[in-house]
Amino acid sequence: MAAVIDTLRLTAEGAKDLLKRGELTGAELRAAYLDAIAERDGELHCFLRTADSDGDGVPIALKDVISTKGVETTAGSRILDGYVPVFDATVAARVKAAGLGLLGKTNTDEFAMGSSTENSAYGPSRNPWDPARVPGGSGGGSAAAVTAGLAPWALGSDTGGSIKQPSALCGNVGLRPTYGSVSRYGVVAFASSLDQVGPVAKTVRDVALLYSIIAGRDPLDSTTAELPEAVRLPEGDSLAGVRVGVPTELNEAEGIEPGVREAVQRAIEFAEELGAEVGECSLPRSVRYGMPCYYLIAPAEASSNLARYDGVRFGKRAEGASYQEMVDRTRDEGFGPEPKRRIMLGTYALSSGYYDAFYGQAQKVRTLIIEEHREALERFDVLVSPTSPTVAFKIGERAADPLAMYASDLLTIPSCLAGLPGLSIPCGLSAGLPVGLQLIGPQFGENLLFRVGHALEQALGFDIVPERWR
Ligand code: GLN
Repeated sequence: MAAVIDTLRLTAEGAKDLLKRGELTGAELRAAYLDAIAERDGELHCFLRTADSDGDGVPIALKDVISTKGVETTAGSRILDGYVPVFDATVAARVKAAGLGLLGKTNTDEFAMGSSTENSAYGPSRNPWDPARVPGGSGGGSAAAVTAGLAPWALGSDTGGSIKQPSALCGNVGLRPTYGSVSRYGVVAFASSLDQVGPVAKTVRDVALLYSIIAGRDPLDSTTAELPEAVRLPEGDSLAGVRVGVPTELNEAEGIEPGVREAVQRAIEFAEELGAEVGECSLPRSVRYGMPCYYLIAPAEASSNLARYDGVRFGKRAEGASYQEMVDRTRDEGFGPEPKRRIMLGTYALSSGYYDAFYGQAQKVRTLIIEEHREALERFDVLVSPTSPTVAFKIGERAADPLAMYASDLLTIPSCLAGLPGLSIPCGLSAGLPVGLQLIGPQFGENLLFRVGHALEQALGFDIVPERWR
């Protein structure tokens, strides 16, 4: 029988092999993760709740924006307190159909609005490398859970960086897939033209495996498409013939820490040694206008999506003498400060008289950002940059300053606006904390990202176990 299972090191692929060879049962594997949760989640608070489940494959954790039948789903908000979906999101149904039992639901900034999980109504998660620091966000619970060995893999959702940035800050691998490759059906909507669900895991191969389970057309989400080619699990370490573009603006943006820059530079040198052709390119509008553009479009869509929370159909309801008073009080008590801020911003940007000046203008800028990515990706196969300008920051450090918090996504937002896939892999440490490398590919270029990410992962040899647990 199996020896002690080291969930800090075991990959999903490794676990799958142990199951296949009969060296481990699904129940034993699940018990090992529940033990790890009992041991370490008191400190880290990755899970909002664990779940009973009967899958006998490699179990999974799901960000709490993903509807799970019979399991409470709050999106990190008080307004959904007690809401138990009567159906599964398509991604939840797909992982279940593949035999992946649900370990539990992971913490998130309220409605996925944030970069640290400090906006969760249920308290922040902590970074496994240093519990005084944030794990990133909004999917900090999923990312921290994977690094801490509380789940072999997890799903997150990414609107402007919520998979890639927490993976970078926690030192693991996260994929934001091409917009339209993964179903959003049953995923609590934030900004529908940007939201995508994607995998978080310890290795690029695990991420590719999980992506193959969730991706593809879903009749319940008309924005999804069939993948143009099957997902390939990456092998080998040659990057011969791969053209790697280094966008100047994404690599020299103000606020990138020197240690982050050095780790990314080293990864680029590795890419060259593995045979890639490396060259500079430019995304002049992306860094300058990406953030303002995102912070008009995302709140505008959020203000419309969040209008459904009225105390009638989902979750919490406050008492009121009239219908209007009930709705007002439900929203006042149910939404935290960040959703309120975004609802107000978004409503303003969409209001008549301002629509053209704000929302309309942002849509035009978005088109320019799409075009400049397309041009860069004609010359290069993938683009690289840091995922986050900084390593994990301290809990509380940016909580009172929305703009400082927003800056965390400066480098992830542009390719999200362009609908392109992005992979974050750990590429080194700065001041003892993980640095993420962002790889951006063309639409449906996931296989290419996996190939490049896997080759670099082998070359870099990053140790995914936080130093304090080695
Ligand atoms: N941090 C960004 C925001 O607050 C992105 C969040 C996300 O991708 N869900 O909007």
